[in-house]
Amino acid sequence: QEQEANLKLSQFVFRAAVVSFSIYRDPGDGAATPLFYGASLSCSGLLERKIMIAILCLQTWHKAVAFAVHHGENDLAIVFPDGVQSRAFYYTHGAFKEKKPCVKCTKMFKVDFRPPAGSATENSRWPYGNCAENESLSKLLQGVPGLQERVVSTHTPPQPNTYQAIEQEFADVIENSFRYHLVQLLQEGHFFSYLPLQFF
Ligand SMILES: [Zn+2]
Repeated sequence: QEQEANLKLSQFVFRAAVVSFSIYRDPGDGAATPLFYGASLSCSGLLERKIMIAILCLQTWHKAVAFAVHHGENDLAIVFPDGVQSRAFYYTHGAFKEKKPCVKCTKMFKVDFRPPAGSATENSRWPYGNCAENESLSKLLQGVPGLQERVVSTHTPPQPNTYQAIEQEFADVIENSFRYHLVQLLQEGHFFSYLPLQFF
């Protein structure tokens, strides 16, 4: 049997249900960066989404975003400096409507969400890292010089919370954790079971 049958590309096809953008406005002089856009993942299955998120955390997204995804279950967040704003929109009946952040995003990202999260809690069945905010905030951090150094985590002493510590933890723990998790997910889905993993 053809091994390629294991890998159905259509399961990874990109269809954005929600888009978001983030921007940084210097609180001092009001100077604004361009808008950095992101889209939500809409692979067909939960396993496919988890695989995509692990690959994105390893290869594409900013390390601070990967940190937030990794710690999603632990109530740890990354904190953006004042002036960073995140807005999300969903597409319906031919127009974009504003969207509040989901519970998972509000746990992961301490940032000025517009509209704000509010009290209504959206029941989020998708995994941490699925939302458009992950991509747009990642692009913002990658695209605005000097911004990443001003991001901190909500780690509490004796754990350091600095950006440097976020990078260090990514190198020491998080990267390996995603790699291990990815191999497990691929085995679970019987993807690529016939060849050694060579794409990271
Ligand atoms: Zn979300």
